[in-house]
Amino acid sequence: MGLISRLAEWREGRRLQSLEVTEEDWRQALGDWQVYRRFAASERERLHDMALRLLLRKAVVGAKELELSDQMRLRIAGMAVVPVLQLGLDWYDGWQTLVIYEGPFIAGHEWLDEYGIAHAERSALCGEAASHGPVVLSLDDVRSAGGKNGHNVVLHELAHTLDMRREGANGAPPLHAGMDAAAWKKDFSAAWDDLERRIHSGRPSPVDDYALEAPAEFFAVLTEAFFEQPGPLADTWPAVYQHLSDFYRQDPRS
Ligand SMILES: [Zn+2]
Repeated sequence: MGLISRLAEWREGRRLQSLEVTEEDWRQALGDWQVYRRFAASERERLHDMALRLLLRKAVVGAKELELSDQMRLRIAGMAVVPVLQLGLDWYDGWQTLVIYEGPFIAGHEWLDEYGIAHAERSALCGEAASHGPVVLSLDDVRSAGGKNGHNVVLHELAHTLDMRREGANGAPPLHAGMDAAAWKKDFSAAWDDLERRIHSGRPSPVDDYALEAPAEFFAVLTEAFFEQPGPLADTWPAVYQHLSDFYRQDPRS
């Protein structure tokens, strides 16, 4: 590490100490979240440290004059760092801003068709991520994230940002040395086909059919399931669970 980055880290450490966030603050922000409760004390400490560093490094802004409480900032940051808990905050260096809406927001998307004509589509979203930011979240969905249905908009959108670090949103983040990209593709494709069959035949599945919107959605939805409901995911698609565990360097079942 160079002198400049050592200095930056030292300054960040000083600013961290001045924040004075208590255990009770964390309990109020994240105490209802099963993923947080599952972590050992040392992992929680790591999560607290990384979440505060995230809040120092990124802008977390309310849209349309929405005032964000400290409790909500801690909840958002605490959930956001879980995917990179064993990878490091550098994995989020491609974006700088989190924008928070009070509820579902209308996003306008434009695209050119094969004749060069621009089309616009508008739909209500609970979250959105662009490759260089911002990450956009609905506060309603942040509040309900981590409930019984296994949905977590924060994990979902942050998974998209990891996916987009390699060749756009295609359903695979940059894999670590020693991970087998061909096996990843084969096993995720098999799980995709299996999910299609399960949905058509009405059999239970560990994720809902939104995962089949696109490979990028498949990765984001499976990331939610990996952290929120790891047991059913591992039982249904053990190979895919293992790839996710190798990538995130976590095993949420244990
Ligand atoms: Zn998505």
